[in-house]
Amino acid sequence: MEPEERRRVSESLSSNQQTMKETGTPESPTCNDSCSDPGHAGVRKEGMLMGELEALVQEVVKKSSWWERHGLDWFILVLNFLALPLGFLCLGSQSTLIFVLGIIILGVVHHTFTVKGSHLASHGALSNSKHWSRFWVLFFVEVCTSFTAEQATDGHVKLHHGYTNVVGLGDSSTWKLPLLNRYVYMFFAPLMIPIITPLVALGLLKNVEPRIAIRTLCLMSLGLLSHYWLLIKVSGFQSPVFALLCMFITRGLLAHPYLHVNIFQHIGLPMFSLDKKPRRIHMMSFGVLNLPRNPILDWTFGHSLISCHVEHHLFPRLSDNMCLKVKPVVSQFLQKNHLPYNEDSYLSRFGLFLSKYEELMVHAPPITDLVGLQ
Ligand SMILES: [Zn+2]
Repeated sequence: MEPEERRRVSESLSSNQQTMKETGTPESPTCNDSCSDPGHAGVRKEGMLMGELEALVQEVVKKSSWWERHGLDWFILVLNFLALPLGFLCLGSQSTLIFVLGIIILGVVHHTFTVKGSHLASHGALSNSKHWSRFWVLFFVEVCTSFTAEQATDGHVKLHHGYTNVVGLGDSSTWKLPLLNRYVYMFFAPLMIPIITPLVALGLLKNVEPRIAIRTLCLMSLGLLSHYWLLIKVSGFQSPVFALLCMFITRGLLAHPYLHVNIFQHIGLPMFSLDKKPRRIHMMSFGVLNLPRNPILDWTFGHSLISCHVEHHLFPRLSDNMCLKVKPVVSQFLQKNHLPYNEDSYLSRFGLFLSKYEELMVHAPPITDLVGLQ
């Protein structure tokens, strides 16, 4: 990376007295007294900060019951399992209203399994048991989402979480499609997610061992065929075309917020180069943004992807409910230590991405150096 391409900024633990409310492409943190004091002191302080925050969060986790740590999230997932028969039966109704209700129920269940379930399972946040964690990853990611578990886990947990906003690694660039214009991307591209996801998964199978490829093919087929079979046998669809159309609609019901949330939370915030990446607490406080709570998205995507994304990036093995519980501790800690705690509304981010689409989604992002904190 050419030096002149970099936006060199300095950040100090004694500066930036206000929490950064992310309302647009962020300004570089301003240089201050400690710009001339990079190096070991900052790194040492950073290590202490993360340790302090971990201790505070650990204290909350220790005092929490099983219900708070895992139970409430499982309760939501179980309710979705129980709603499945109702959804398929509603689709068999002659009443338009009940039919639409069936679409909504199955759409919500599908996204709860494929987003909330897959996400928590890929982080091992659904169970403390290694074997059960493995089972749930295969179920939610391969059967429900039609994607290879290993590649989903590597791409999300190892790359995106391990190298958040590091250009070329965890920088969310997989979500960029520069060939599409802003309106096509924001309004029409999400509709293709139910079709593109299994196709991408199939394309990636050539990179995995034959054993994994066969297993993924079997589990993906199980998910897609059982969905189709239930529409024919339980909902009573006569036409295969209508059954496939119904699958497409329910699987794409919340595809718009899914795509939007994935770009809103990181793109436009400071990006880092691998050789200058800051330590963990700075990487997450500068490079992650929380959206406000929303009942539908809280239910289907989970708090860790909506209002507690910062907390999730700092403590990725916490369940959605625990991310919500530690949110006040994390936000107050970051604010007290003069670190950013990025928050913005869905509509504000939507407007920003529409107005600055070229800058955010087409051109390469500027690199931010947090001097002294690498
Ligand atoms: Zn995650």
